[in-house]
Amino acid sequence: MQDFDLVLRCGHFVSMAGGEASAQNDVFLGCTGSKITAVLPWSKMNADSHAKPQWRTHRFIDARKKAVLPGLVNAHSHLPMSLFRGLADDLPFSDWLNKYILPLEGRVVNAEFVKLGTELSLLEALLSGTTQIYDMYFFEDEIAEVVDRVGARAVLGENVFDYEAPDNKGRTGNDWKILDRMVERYKGHPRITPFIAPHAPYSCSDDTIRKVMSYAEAKKLWIGMHVSETRPEVEASLKQYGKSPVERLYELGMMKLHCVFAHGVHLSDHDISLLKKCDTAVVNNPECNMKLGSGIAPITRLIAQGITVALGTDGPASNNDLNMFKEMDVAAKAQKYAQSDNTAMTAATALKMATWNGAKAFQQLNELGSLEVGKRADFIVVDLEVPNLQPLHDVVSQLVYAASGSEVETVVVDGKILIDERQPRTIDREDLYDRIAHFRKRAGF
Ligand SMILES: [Zn+2]
Repeated sequence: MQDFDLVLRCGHFVSMAGGEASAQNDVFLGCTGSKITAVLPWSKMNADSHAKPQWRTHRFIDARKKAVLPGLVNAHSHLPMSLFRGLADDLPFSDWLNKYILPLEGRVVNAEFVKLGTELSLLEALLSGTTQIYDMYFFEDEIAEVVDRVGARAVLGENVFDYEAPDNKGRTGNDWKILDRMVERYKGHPRITPFIAPHAPYSCSDDTIRKVMSYAEAKKLWIGMHVSETRPEVEASLKQYGKSPVERLYELGMMKLHCVFAHGVHLSDHDISLLKKCDTAVVNNPECNMKLGSGIAPITRLIAQGITVALGTDGPASNNDLNMFKEMDVAAKAQKYAQSDNTAMTAATALKMATWNGAKAFQQLNELGSLEVGKRADFIVVDLEVPNLQPLHDVVSQLVYAASGSEVETVVVDGKILIDERQPRTIDREDLYDRIAHFRKRAGF
C-alpha cells in the first residue's frame, strides 16, 4: 500500500517536463509532504477497477474535467505597490515615476504599508494561479514574513540605489542590514530565496554596482535589476557613459554573476550578444511596457539566441494587475503584433516562459518548473467547464489565449493547498480589505 498526502486524477495534465507544453490525458499525480512522488497513467495505479486500490491518500481531488499544470511564476514584480494601483494612470512615464510614485513612496511607505500591499498582492496572485513571485522593494524582511505566513513561494530582493530609501530615511543609499537579516534568516528556506536588487543602471552609480557585486559574490546571491526599459534610459546612458546600460554592466563585471534583467525593451545587437555570452536571463513584462508606452521587447530574437526569457507582470501600479494568464496572452500577442506575424510566438512558448523559464531564470530547475517525480509540489488546477474554455480542441491554446485566471480552482505550493475550491485558506480577505482601508485613512492617500 502506497500512502500519499494528496492525489489528483488529472484529465488534462500539462507537466512542462523539458519545457515542452503538451497535455497527457488521465494522469495520476501523487504528492507526499512537499514533493511530487508519483506521475503516471491513472490506469497503471488502478489496473483492476474491482480490486482494492493499492494506494491511499489523505486528500483526493477529482480533476478529470480540469487542467493541471505547474504553478505560474511571476518573474518580476513589486508586491507592496498594489496599494498604488490605479492612482496615477495614463501619464508620461517620467511624470508617473517622479511626480507621483517616488514622492508617495517617500511619504507613505513604511513596514505596515509593505505588509498590507504584499498580502493583497499574494491574494490576487494565488487566486489567479501564480505560485512563485518575484519582488524587489523596500523593507524586504517584512515582505518575507508575510510571504512565509501565507505559504507562497517567492524570490525577494531588497532594492538598492543611490538615493534615500524609505527603509533608510535620512541617509543616502540603503541599510544593508536588511539584506544581512534576509540572507541569514532565509538561508535554506524551502520557499523563500533572497537575492540582491539594484534598482536600475540609472539609479545606481558605478560604486554602488561594485558594492552590489561584492555583496552578491560573498553571500552567493544572484542579482535582479531593471535594465533598458525605456528609450530615454538608453540614450542617457550612451550620453553619460558612452555605453548602453547592458554594455556598462558588462564592463563593470556584474554580468559575470548570475543576473536576471527585467524589461530589456531597447537592446542593440551588441547588447543581445553580451546577454547571450553571460547567460543573463531576461524577464519580459509586456503589459507594463505597453501601458507605459515603453515599447515591445525583442523577445523572439532573445529566445532565438538561446537566452532564457521568463515572464512577469511588473508592479500593480504600472500594469495594473498580477494576473499571469493575461500576461501570457499579451506576451504572445505583442510579438505577433510587433512583427505582423501570427507565428512570431506560440501559446506553448508563452506557457514555457511563465513556468519552466521562470524556474530556470532563478536557477531552480532541479526543484521547480515542471511536474515530475522528485520536484516540489507547486501546481494549479484549472476548471475547463466554463464557456470561454469550451469546446476543448487544444488545452495549451485555451490556457494562454482564452483563460482569464478566474478559472483557477486549486493552488498548491510545496504540497500545501493555499487556494481550495477558489477559497484562500491562509488569507482572510474581508479582514485584509478592512485593514487596508484603515491604513489609507491614517496615511491620507
Ligand atoms: Zn519593475
